[in-house]
Amino acid sequence: MQKIIYADNAATTPLSQKALTAMMPYLTEFYGNPSALYSLGRRARKAVEQARDSIAACLGATPEEIYFTACGTESDNWALRGMAAEQAKSGRRHIITSVFEHHAVLHTCQALEQKGFSVTYLPVTKDGYVRPEDLQAALTPKTALVSIMYANNELGTVQPVRQLADICRTADVPFHTDAVQAAGHLPINVHLNNIDLLSLSAHKFGGPKGCGVLYIRRGLHPANLLCGGAQEQGRRGGTENTAGIVGTAAALRERTAALEQDTKRVSTLRDRLERGLLAAVPGCFRNGGSHRLPGHLNLCFPGTDGEALLLLLDQQGICASAGSACAAGSIEPSHVLQAIGLDRQAARSSLRFSLGVQNTEEDVDQLLKAVPDAVKRLHSF
Ligand code: PLP
Repeated sequence: MQKIIYADNAATTPLSQKALTAMMPYLTEFYGNPSALYSLGRRARKAVEQARDSIAACLGATPEEIYFTACGTESDNWALRGMAAEQAKSGRRHIITSVFEHHAVLHTCQALEQKGFSVTYLPVTKDGYVRPEDLQAALTPKTALVSIMYANNELGTVQPVRQLADICRTADVPFHTDAVQAAGHLPINVHLNNIDLLSLSAHKFGGPKGCGVLYIRRGLHPANLLCGGAQEQGRRGGTENTAGIVGTAAALRERTAALEQDTKRVSTLRDRLERGLLAAVPGCFRNGGSHRLPGHLNLCFPGTDGEALLLLLDQQGICASAGSACAAGSIEPSHVLQAIGLDRQAARSSLRFSLGVQNTEEDVDQLLKAVPDAVKRLHSF
């Protein structure tokens, strides 16, 4: 089989061996329902609670503030819909977010607009950052919630979360951040950074798919999104995904412990890829500023079609992405790239490479050969 060069870690990551090993007993031997009172159930309960402790420690939260969900999308929906419903009780029906959020946030905001909430979509700079002064200016006494992503999924640009959260804390407005791309790749401390709600998703940092977390600061009471049993302190019904939860904790622990060395190694690979491609492809330029996640590289190859480029690269076993994976197949060019000022053509000519901990120097060598060749082929048509 052809060797795969996987440069799409922002879409999903391979399951880490440590996570798989931690999960296996709960997929096989210890299958009890964590709510059951007999020992098989208690064994599963213990694993779920140990995972909660471990995730809380990685995020600077307390275990009671960690809630398990089925994905990042659910966490975002719960944070936004739940806080909107709660705040509406006291007449606060205004939400602030940014134009370049993931659709899990943007489409939820649009659904809330249908229900009578007003939403301010903050613009972003041409480098891909939200300006704290824009947030300050948009706040009103009716603002119910602010939701700004920790790092953008297409550009990797890391937002000034501390400043944004401080502004919200001073104004007494809850601050939610979609940290789906950032968790496991950046140090995160929710308490030190005044974050009130934070979403993450295990499959973006070596954990299993279908497992998310919502951190909810103690004292906040977003309305329930899912009604059902008494799981998760009665706030999110549904039998816990024991193995997935254990795998999420194992993967986050692994990434947190190795964060410093991973960041150095992955960003060094990414920087070599960036320098090499910028030098080899005339007219090529980077989208977004340099303060970004270690593995992200978003480049525009003028005069090419991103989807065609991806297909040529796929023939060489290379996995990359045009825009965000969730929007693939859509004929609309990326809303993120348009938000930073690219025209539709330039947005369509852009690719995202996202490297991860499993990538090697050889992978970068292959990319440095295959990508310029593919661009040349497209230019010659
Ligand atoms: N938010 C961001 C920034 C993302 O990148 C993604 C997935 O790509 C999501 C939310 C959705 O996460 P999930 O795939 O776990 O639903």
